[in-house]
Amino acid sequence: MERYPTLKTQDPEIYSLINRQTEFESSTLKMIASESFASLAVLEACGSTLTNKYAEGYAGARYYEGNDIVDEIELLAIGRAKKIFGCEHVNVQPCSGSPANQAVYRAILKPGDKVMGLPVPEGGHLTHGWKVNFSGKDYVQVPYAPEPTTGLIDMNHVREIALRERPKMIWAGTTAYPRQLDYAAFAEIAREIDAYLVADIAHINGLIIAGVHPDPVPFCDVVSSTSHKMLRGPRSGFILSKIGDRYQSRYFPESKLNLAQRIDRAVFPGLQGGPHLHIIAAMAVAFKEADSDAFRSYGRQIVANAKHLAKSLQEKGIAIASGGTDTHLLLLDFRKEEFTGKDFSNAMAKSGIIANFNMVPGDQRSPFVTSGVRLGTPALTSMGMKEPEMELVANWISRIRQNINNIDSEAPKIRAEIAELCGKHKIPGIRP
Ligand SMILES: *Cc1c(COP(=O)(O)O)cnc(C)c1O
Repeated sequence: MERYPTLKTQDPEIYSLINRQTEFESSTLKMIASESFASLAVLEACGSTLTNKYAEGYAGARYYEGNDIVDEIELLAIGRAKKIFGCEHVNVQPCSGSPANQAVYRAILKPGDKVMGLPVPEGGHLTHGWKVNFSGKDYVQVPYAPEPTTGLIDMNHVREIALRERPKMIWAGTTAYPRQLDYAAFAEIAREIDAYLVADIAHINGLIIAGVHPDPVPFCDVVSSTSHKMLRGPRSGFILSKIGDRYQSRYFPESKLNLAQRIDRAVFPGLQGGPHLHIIAAMAVAFKEADSDAFRSYGRQIVANAKHLAKSLQEKGIAIASGGTDTHLLLLDFRKEEFTGKDFSNAMAKSGIIANFNMVPGDQRSPFVTSGVRLGTPALTSMGMKEPEMELVANWISRIRQNINNIDSEAPKIRAEIAELCGKHKIPGIRP
């Protein structure tokens, strides 16, 4: 299949770089937990003429003329998101996950307010109050973390911290935690201290749609998400919320706006100008794709693959943080090894397995080298890989570990085997 024929003649430099990256991703194992493969339909919508349109505002209330048709597009995206997530209100304009979270802060908190979240080294996201991010500079993070001994979030401990610190908002969301979150327990704690509960489902939205992870929508005031990770949409974000604010009289007695209106205003005009309509259209396409048995079976297989991979690795003597996984990701735990997480992710990359080094619970090494590697199964699952292929991946990872000190001689052999396996699989958006 010839990709991008016009670009090829008009800008061969960029064409060639895009092609090289695509070839690279098609001949190696994409195990970055936050990545998957968007469909050709999603890619086509992203590349559509909608990129030319300005539509500041919301459907029916724009600041530019000529928006009747794009109103339909945005309303379709919103309607489809409401259907798959079963929520009251949706905003599809945030340009990515971090801007979506920024809007949540602006809708709910005032600068200096306390927000409870996991620090980055503990598996949280930058926007959950980490010090180098706006969220840690403008707000005060009350940290919680998985227990160093078990690798699990202990809800009794979370409650203790919450009662002591009384944050105004609690994030229930992670980027590197292999276990399910107990939203019901988070909701009970939030209610005890009159805090807003916000779930960040950037990583796990597909598991929720597939019914293999608890659903936060009934328990949370707000749920934020990306659309480009396992959801396989364009690179973007969206916010689900209740319409009414249960703490309106306590925290916003003067405001005539409800929670949904405050979120909409925080996104536009609070933080952004014109919405990216080509991306919103592509998001609508991804939502439609996600509302299918094929997608739900993809979500289930992601977890089955991660569980199988964790078990196979453990059988080969590789430790897994928290003893396994019930999501799409696992953390290889190399605290007892001579080599670091960075050494290992580097050796894996040489061998054709692309992932990232990551802190693990109880890690004594610095965040620049770490003792762990984070592996995710969404992309391989999108390629149609199942348990037998996870066996192969576990074998390769085990070989990398055995050859960690002479990886340069072993890596090319593994890489060739991986390229051969990849060649046998279809890849959404790349190789039908
Ligand atoms: C990826 C991610 C985000 C946002 O990511 P962007 O890179 O800004 O799109 C937010 N929260 C969590 C938990 C994430 O994993």
